[in-house]
Amino acid sequence: MKTKVGLLYGGKSAEHEVSMQTAMAVLKALDQEKFEVYPIYISKDGAWNKGPQLTGPVENVKELAFSNLDALPPTALAPALFKATEDEKGSFDVIFPLLHGPNGEDGTVQGLLELLNLPYVGNGVLSSSAGMDKVIMKNIFAQAGLPQVKYVWFIRSEWEKDNEEAYKKVESELGYPCFVKPANLGSSVGISKCTNRSELEKAFSEAFKFDRKIIIEEGVTAREIEAGVLGNDHPECSVAGEIVPKKEFYDYKAKYEDGNTALIIPAEITESEYEQLKEMAIRAFKSLDCSGLVRADFFLTREGKWYINEVNTMPGFTPFSMFPLLWKHTGVEYPQLIERLVNLAIERHNEKQ
Ligand code: ATP
Ligand code: MG
Ligand code: MG
Ligand code: MG
Repeated sequence: MKTKVGLLYGGKSAEHEVSMQTAMAVLKALDQEKFEVYPIYISKDGAWNKGPQLTGPVENVKELAFSNLDALPPTALAPALFKATEDEKGSFDVIFPLLHGPNGEDGTVQGLLELLNLPYVGNGVLSSSAGMDKVIMKNIFAQAGLPQVKYVWFIRSEWEKDNEEAYKKVESELGYPCFVKPANLGSSVGISKCTNRSELEKAFSEAFKFDRKIIIEEGVTAREIEAGVLGNDHPECSVAGEIVPKKEFYDYKAKYEDGNTALIIPAEITESEYEQLKEMAIRAFKSLDCSGLVRADFFLTREGKWYINEVNTMPGFTPFSMFPLLWKHTGVEYPQLIERLVNLAIERHNEKQ
């Protein structure tokens, strides 16, 4: 019997397009001898569309999703999931929520899947939501003793009440350069590097377009090193990878459009630096009670000091993304990685029962 996989992709998020790219790659890589895939496309405004079952090589995920369109409003999410297998006996064996950012990587979809009692790939409700909010995540990391850069945060109404006071707080507590980010997002959307007051003002307005809460961090001059963590109760760490953006920082364009950011795998770090990285990546995974996978992002200064930047509970997942490449270099090829994640999802689900 083939494993029935419901592949959720798209999503009501500023990272919608990123998910589209990833879904196509995963669809292509899933072994059709073992898996029966049901693509379920979530549009940008949150409607769920049932795509036809995958029968041949897919050239274009968009076409796949939109033929045989069966759109449902967000209020019909639960029935939608069952409807997708209406013709078949039983439900999905596993759901793969290949969604990034809010409304997908943040515990909302995970909560729905819990209520439906369906196994799903990746992090649960708590780790997804705590990992999506950079302020909450930093609080938990601080509790776990992980080194981090200084930061402050604001909600929109505080800033609206007294702009000047907010900017002054940033300048007195952090200074320049600093990074302004929406608290809940990814793919560098809404993030700006600021070196003076006028850039700071622009950056606040930009970040508040995406979230009612923003975080401002001290900017560090450091190498960017990432590690993949895979597993449930006994997570393993991949080799390290380094990102070398050709621009000011690793922004959205550098991630998905320019294609000239260098990913160096394995990263050239010492053995003892790697040991530290591995320990911290696993500590971060455990501190958020993660399951399945995370990509943990770090800074390493010239003096050899580590800072954790963040974890991503559903990292970029095309065969050319950092997380799959890290595992490839660790000995797990892309199709095996997907299979491993599916098995981890089923394992965790069975343990809960
Ligand atoms: P993703 O989820 O795609 O990894 P994100 O939107 O969560 O991205 P971050 O990883 O926090 O964003 O930041 C994006 C990039 O901005 C980093 O990869 C790095 O290049 C730069 N950056 C972020 N914070 C800092 C900082 N405090 N100091 C120096 N550079 C930073
Ligand atoms: Mg992130
Ligand atoms: Mg992300
Ligand atoms: Mg990051």
